[in-house]
Amino acid sequence: MAVERTLSIIKPDATNRNLTGKINAKFEDAGLRIVAQKRIQLTKAQAGEFYAVHKERPFYDELCEFMASAPVVVQVLEGEGAIAKNRDVMGATNPADAAPGTIRAEFAESVGENSVHGSDAPETAAVEIAYFFSGLELVG
Ligand code: ADP
Repeated sequence: MAVERTLSIIKPDATNRNLTGKINAKFEDAGLRIVAQKRIQLTKAQAGEFYAVHKERPFYDELCEFMASAPVVVQVLEGEGAIAKNRDVMGATNPADAAPGTIRAEFAESVGENSVHGSDAPETAAVEIAYFFSGLELVG
């Protein structure tokens, strides 16, 4: 399987509860390497641009408000099959459906405030990584 990179975000509900280290340990235990990471404060407009694909969904405004409500940690995770592996470690969108041991099963507060974002395909990973990181920040 190919080595991939994927974009991960530790969301405001998790940074508020000081869970960055516990969530990073889940990634590292699963064999994902954190090759870039920074803590930033998104504006609502930036969150809206990032989640533009969800513009027509009923929860879009709530999602953008939430993502701009406190700092987030944006990261690039690298590893064999990193995109699917990260989705496995994250668990299902709704924590009620997330498998035991996954980040969302252990830490998410609701379907909206669900602690982490992860890219869902190679094409979106490339676009999402470029949204937050320059090539100079990706040292492997
Ligand atoms: P995922 O993050 O698992 O890829 P989606 O792409 O479907 O899930 O949704 C993006 C984000 O939008 C979710 O992680 C969550 O924060 C929010 N969201 C999804 N569904 C709902 C919902 N029914 N109500 C509120 N927020 C939601």
